[in-house]
Amino acid sequence: MVVEDVVDEGRQVVVWARTPDDPAACPGCGAESARVYSYHWRTVADVPLDERPVTVNVQVRRLFCPTMGCRTTFREQVAGVLERYQRRTARLTGQVQSVVRELAGRAGARLLEQLSVRLSRHTARSFMRPWPRRLTNALRAAYLELRRP
Ligand SMILES: [Zn+2]
Repeated sequence: MVVEDVVDEGRQVVVWARTPDDPAACPGCGAESARVYSYHWRTVADVPLDERPVTVNVQVRRLFCPTMGCRTTFREQVAGVLERYQRRTARLTGQVQSVVRELAGRAGARLLEQLSVRLSRHTARSFMRPWPRRLTNALRAAYLELRRP
């Protein structure tokens, strides 16, 4: 990412960035292209700075695919920074996941608040590791055992 500007807005820090002008690989065929079709903005939250939330606005390119018969255009991906459909940077997502997994429930919520990370309960729940199948099976077996007359 190329950082164009960092603005101190008092209660939050706003970063304006763009992707480099380098060619990017088409997810369909792998061919590289730097021919821009359009630009669009993505806004994501990053790891807080100085106890203030950080918002990153990244200008991302939609590029033409050079391969005949492949898709005509594609959005470039910024691996490790912007994950598809996410509203947080990969870095912030990783930190939030660690907190939620290690400290589920209220303790995790309090710690995230201390770290100036905003997170809904719904999102926190989605970060929880699903129960291992073996445990689920063991619980089901125990339940059936208890219900046996
Ligand atoms: Zn392609």
